[in-house]
Amino acid sequence: MKIAVCIKRVPDTATRLNFAADGTSIDQSEVQWIISPYDEFAIEEGLRLKEKAGEGTVTVITCGPASATKELRQALGMGADDAVHIQTEDDLDPIQIARCLSQVLESRGDDLVLFGRQSVDAQGSQMGALVASQLGRPFANSIASLEVDGTTVRIQRDVDGGRETLEGSLPVVLGADKSLNEPRYPKLKDIMKAKKKPIETVEAQPGERAFETSAITPPPPRPEGRIVGEGPEAVEELIRLLREESKVI
Ligand SMILES: Cc1cc2nc3c(=O)[nH]c(=O)nc-3n(C[C@H](O)[C@H](O)[C@H](O)COP(=O)(O)OP(=O)(O)OC[C@H]3O[C@@H](n4cnc5c(N)ncnc54)[C@H](O)[C@@H]3O)c2cc1C
Repeated sequence: MKIAVCIKRVPDTATRLNFAADGTSIDQSEVQWIISPYDEFAIEEGLRLKEKAGEGTVTVITCGPASATKELRQALGMGADDAVHIQTEDDLDPIQIARCLSQVLESRGDDLVLFGRQSVDAQGSQMGALVASQLGRPFANSIASLEVDGTTVRIQRDVDGGRETLEGSLPVVLGADKSLNEPRYPKLKDIMKAKKKPIETVEAQPGERAFETSAITPPPPRPEGRIVGEGPEAVEELIRLLREESKVI
């Protein structure tokens, strides 16, 4: 089985983000980058399917700047066979990234293309659907379990109050949720091996932008805390405030 996993680098959640002077982007000079956590579930699932089948390949693909090679090497350290780096130093909007990914995927003809259900920074939850639509393939997002038997695919998704089971045929595009598996930690010997695995560099052909980011702004500062009393006597007033003022209960 030929499997592609699309991964995005995102700022480490421990990084303190600062806005750049232009007011439309993040100052990236101090940012530590990681593989978006949902993408790690997608990589792990691709590796497990390959291991179970005893054959096939897992290719990781990213669209991003030259420095995103680091995240591709990490994925190769987890066990992916090779990588494609669609290189661009430009800030692209989602439709442009989807075009770049689709161009590469179109020429590869994978049986299965895996995404994370959403990136943990921009959180658009749209890339898998955009790419699937451009490839003319079915898409299911937020998958909690996956079984492939020949060309039959069985998927479970967590939905409000239960689980939905879907059945379809390869090729499909799927977005991984966190209940899918537990991603492995790369072993030192695999990290060393990953240094020799091939990364193909492809020039991005993003086409026209659909949107310009005109501003990004921080959330409003939190109002200062208020002490409403002490001990059990304060409970009644606290509940009243939570109900009538904050309207959270
Ligand atoms: C209107 C608009 C304008 C934007 N303009 C800019 C801009 O000027 N500069 C800028 O830096 N960003 C910009 N962005 C953000 C950027 O386009 C998105 O981060 C990017 O398109 C990915 O979308 P997402 O993070 O919402 O991914 P989601 O749809 O939430 O991601 C789902 C999955 O898609 C895959 N994926 C996402 N991105 C990639 C990628 N690059 N390579 C491989 N796989 C990927 C991963 O598997 C990920 O888990 C803009 C976003 C919007 C909505």
